[in-house]
Order: sequence, then C-alpha cells, then structure tokens
Amino acid sequence: MRTLITGGAGFIGSHLCERFLAEGHEVVAVDNLITGNLENLDPLRSNPRFRFVGHDISNPLKIREKLDNVLHFASPASPVDYLEFPIQTLKVGSLGTHNALGIAKAHGARFLLASTSEVYGDPLEHPQTERYWGNVNPVGVRGVYDEAKRFAESMTMAYHRVHQLNTHIVRIFNTYGPRMRLNDGRVLPNFMYQALRGEPITVYGDGSQTRSFCYVTDLVEGIYRLLFADFHDPVNLGNPAEITILEFASEILKLAGSISAVTFKPLPEDDPKVRQPDITRARQLLGWEPKVGRDEGLRRTMDFFKLRLGK
Ligand code: UDP
Repeated sequence: MRTLITGGAGFIGSHLCERFLAEGHEVVAVDNLITGNLENLDPLRSNPRFRFVGHDISNPLKIREKLDNVLHFASPASPVDYLEFPIQTLKVGSLGTHNALGIAKAHGARFLLASTSEVYGDPLEHPQTERYWGNVNPVGVRGVYDEAKRFAESMTMAYHRVHQLNTHIVRIFNTYGPRMRLNDGRVLPNFMYQALRGEPITVYGDGSQTRSFCYVTDLVEGIYRLLFADFHDPVNLGNPAEITILEFASEILKLAGSISAVTFKPLPEDDPKVRQPDITRARQLLGWEPKVGRDEGLRRTMDFFKLRLGK
C-alpha cells in the first residue's frame, strides 16, 4: 500500500509516517514546514519506501504514484501557532482539505481527516461525545482553527456523500510525546521547558481549567485502526484521564525534580474551561483505548526534552 500523509513533518504526522512504514507501506510525506520540522523525519529519510515532498497542500498537488490512503494532518495545531498563522490555518483546513480530498478521489484512496476536540469549542456538555455540536466563537481568535476544522469535517462528509469516497474523521484531543516543538506554546512543552530550566511555570488563569492528555503512540494506534474501519462519522480519540492545569504543573515539577515557582498569567481568549473525551464509540468500533498512562508518557516525553535541551 502507498500512503500520503500531509503534515508529515509535524509532531503527529511524523509518528504516523513511522508507523505506516513499520506496517510495510510506502509513505509520501507532504509538508510546507511552517510548523513542521524536517528533523522529525531524520530517522526515516534513508528508508527507500519513504519520500518527502516540500509543498503547501493549500495549493493543488499531483501525485503520480498510485495511492491507497490519504491522511490529512497538515495544519498549525497549537493556539500560539494558529494565532501567528491565522490565514494559513484557515486555508489549510479549507483549501487544503479540498485538495487532499481531490487527491484521494483521483486515486480512489481511503481518506482520513485529522479533526480536533476544538470543534466542541468551550463545551457546554461534559465529557464530549461525538453527538455534541459544540460551542464555538466563530469570530474569536481561536475560531480560525475551530471553524477551519468544522468546515473540513463538513467537506469530508460531502465527498463521502456525493462521491462515495471512503472517508474517516478523527477528533483528536490533547496529545503529547516526543517531537513536540519546545517552543510551540502548548502547555506541556512550556511547562517542561520551564521546569527543566528552573524558570517560573506559567499557569494561565487560576489553573482550574481541565484537559485530558493522550500519549502519541496510543493516538497513532487508534488512527491506524480507524483508517481501515467501515465507519464514516467522527470518532473521538483521546485519553479520558482528566486533570486541572494546576495539578498538571505540579506533576511536571515533581517529575523534573524542579524548584521552579508557579506564576499566574491571564487566561487566553475563549480558552475552554473543561475538556474530556467520551471514547465509547472508539472502544466499541475499534476495540481501542489508551494504554500509556501519564506517569509513563510524561517520563518518556521529558527524556526527549532533556535530550533536546542538552541535559
Ligand atoms: N496553558 C497554561 N500555561 C501555558 C500554556 C497553556 O496554563 O504556558 C493552559 C491553557 O490556557 C489551556 C491549557 O493550558 O487552558 C492547554 O493549553 P494548550 O495551549 O496546550 O492547548 P489547548 O488545549 O488550549 O488547545
């Protein structure tokens, strides 16, 4: 099989490339490298079944080799990144999704869209099931990502209904692991960087907001299963273990053996107050659930950050 992965040089994209190669696929990774990093692909580049294409998928792309699968993972995905690249974020979610769907259609390939828990916005239902329609501010600063992904889901379902394309939609909740960018601005890289350097830990708001963190290999396993499932509606993938951001800060401080103080900064606009996936659908459909607990996952991730920081 040959699999195209847009955003292949990104955090999740590069783990997907690795997994699909390990499953014996040929892999074509496409990335424009605005938030992706070629270093993430260093371990794969000598593999003869791997090819990298430097390209912005918001512009049309022709792939000559026959494709069996198209996975659309290109997009800035950290709030700091999509605030810096709001128009690129909107374009890759809309035009990029259209182009990726077009490629899948031309090849008669399976398609999988990387959607997000951000489609639920600042949720009024908790935990979030796939049936919840969400609470998104379309004109707020986070709206560029949320609405782009909501449009992308809509476009994907239209291709499924009109062209009978074999499509899949994964709603990804907060994911972490090696190859996250140290400076991507998300909570885990920030806290780990600060803890390891003895700098103050920046908790936004009072830290009572919650998130649920999934280790990247668990997510990748779920995505692999979903791609081959006979199911087209969205599926949540995430780890239901929910924690407040303040508790998360203490866990990371303890793990790092750090003496950093905690400082409180203003809460960003429209920052969701709670987030926890209901994964009943993934359990029933895919027989999937996360295996790596925060203890183990945070330790592996911290080893990676220590290496990057030369510690
Ligand atoms: N956050 C924080 N300090 C930081 C970075 C983020 O307290 O240095 C908070 C942020 O306000 C949010 C949560 O951590 O409530 C998760 O933020 P992140 O940017 O990782 O992703 P989100 O889940 O909001 O998309």
